[in-house]
Amino acid sequence: MKIVLDHLTKKFPGRGRKNPGEVAAVSDFTLEIPDGELVGLLGPSGCGKSTTLNMICGLETPTSGTIHFGDDDVTKLSPELRGVGMVFQNYALYPHLNVRQNILFPLENLRGKDRLSKEEMERRVSETARLVQIEDLMERKPKELSGGQQQRVAIARALVKFPRVLLLDEPLSNLDARLRLQTREEIRKIQKKTGITTVFVTHDQDEAMSICDRIAVMQNGVLMQQGHPQQVYDDPSCLFVAKFLGTPPINVFEGVVRGQTLYIGGQPVLPAGGVKDQEVFAAVRPEGFVLQSDGPLSCRLERVEVMGRDVSVISSHDACTGPAVRSIISAESRVDTASSTVRFALKPGKAFLFEKDSEKRVTVQQN
Ligand code: ADP
Ligand code: MG
Repeated sequence: MKIVLDHLTKKFPGRGRKNPGEVAAVSDFTLEIPDGELVGLLGPSGCGKSTTLNMICGLETPTSGTIHFGDDDVTKLSPELRGVGMVFQNYALYPHLNVRQNILFPLENLRGKDRLSKEEMERRVSETARLVQIEDLMERKPKELSGGQQQRVAIARALVKFPRVLLLDEPLSNLDARLRLQTREEIRKIQKKTGITTVFVTHDQDEAMSICDRIAVMQNGVLMQQGHPQQVYDDPSCLFVAKFLGTPPINVFEGVVRGQTLYIGGQPVLPAGGVKDQEVFAAVRPEGFVLQSDGPLSCRLERVEVMGRDVSVISSHDACTGPAVRSIISAESRVDTASSTVRFALKPGKAFLFEKDSEKRVTVQQN
């Protein structure tokens, strides 16, 4: 089921005398989610992810704009009639019901023509339990399950009505690190197996990048960029997106373009074809540094961390806006740890320029 969000805006009334103005939680948000894809809504806390998801499922009504599922305009439709399955951060399983009863619950509440026979309900519950691999836990109560198992029950409960759309709001936040990794793989597997169009909300870029077909990055209620994870990583449209994606994070330098050349700390570091003279932010991915004894970017060497396959070089530079320059180079290249400086050349495809004021991307002609 294709989902189209068209110019969605949600404003909340301000609270009290101190904040009389309205809060624009989501502003003019337009996004097309292709049928069968897993799309990640990504951004820092408070950027409007949950509000967007709640509008898709019908828990919030947009102030303006429309939502379509396929050809159906569902903007004003109540949540029960939309055919969505929803999983929240706190899975909210019924503690007094066992796993089977928890999954069965949404089906027992179907009324009228949607009502299923007892056999059909049982069949669906078994099928869904098998899908998320909890068949052996059906008689247990939620408190007798691990966090990961509880989360799978919550997903089964969302899937049992065979929804047209699956919506997940920070579903992994309550799990410990290892289980988070494992469960995100499982969500991906379940999504692939069912082919159900899924929107996955997270503030964790690594999580979104690793399992999503497509990501949509938000800031202050505004969609900043959307696309395939690698595409957005390789071609960020603004400094915010460049900084939000990637671990270790991108390194941001104050730079200046003069005569179609980028200077950092007064040294010419890269060609900047077609760019007019201006001050810029120059952002370099950790993998964008090449160790080179006569390289133009001279940094103070702080320390070297060997990580097996790679070496992480931590240095500093006066033009860097962060406390440290983090570069990752292959383990074969030798860093002279006795030296107080380390010199780099930069890879053009891994360094991006942004306008100083708007922080929008400045396109460099590559040739
Ligand atoms: P996220 O899920 O990305 O953390 P939310 O969508 O929950 O962000 O919130 C976006 C903004 O809208 C925040 O500033 C939040 O305080 C505000 N907000 C969310 N829900 C309400 C509400 N019911 N009333 C007033 N403000 C709200
Ligand atoms: Mg939220």
